[in-house]
Amino acid sequence: MGYVFPPEAPVTAAVVGTDDCVALRRVYCVGRNYAAHAREMGFDPDREPPFFFLKPNNTVVPVAYHETLKLAYPAQTSNYHYEAELVAVIGKGGSDIAQEKALEHVWGYAVGLDMTRRDLQIQMREMGRPWEIGKAFDQSAPMGPIHPAASVGDIDHAKLWLSVNGEIKQSSSIDYLIWSVAETIAYLSRFFRLEPGDLIFTGTPEGVGAVLPGDIIKVGVERLGELTVEIV
Ligand code: MN
Repeated sequence: MGYVFPPEAPVTAAVVGTDDCVALRRVYCVGRNYAAHAREMGFDPDREPPFFFLKPNNTVVPVAYHETLKLAYPAQTSNYHYEAELVAVIGKGGSDIAQEKALEHVWGYAVGLDMTRRDLQIQMREMGRPWEIGKAFDQSAPMGPIHPAASVGDIDHAKLWLSVNGEIKQSSSIDYLIWSVAETIAYLSRFFRLEPGDLIFTGTPEGVGAVLPGDIIKVGVERLGELTVEIV
């Protein structure tokens, strides 16, 4: 049996310092996972259960450390926001994963940007409609190379930052996640069977804001390095 249309090449992310890559499967994103960000979005962060949205895997744009990714300003928005995030890469599948075992399912970590058409997201949110047009558009998930968890060590206290044109806009720490990476995996795996190549964008701290063509974003996580993105 032949394909009517040629299948698309797998979407991949490089493994740092090797010629290997990881074929990406699903992109799960956690909403409002830092208290100060929940507050800046107008919500009470008192540990409501985590909630999730997805982006298609082909929204991921790989960014190498030595390059500046040129990211086109998207259509249909006048409020295009950055969100700096730690990304966890699943290496071992499972359902109903126990929190104590959850980190055994993480193969690696990466720096990611959950780019957002904030005006459309808020419009959909207020209408009680799905967020896809605000969150799941083309090229909405730039991400750096994957660092194997074994080489990263303790990510739980790593600093996370983002600057625009040299000015720090987001500066926080993985310490401040409301739902830790392990708790997020345990919860998420009750609803979806996780598989190797799944990504979890773990949420963004306070300080989100808009960018315009010409702006340079630098986004980093301690132990994982820093990416550079130019909006064009
Ligand atoms: Mn986000």
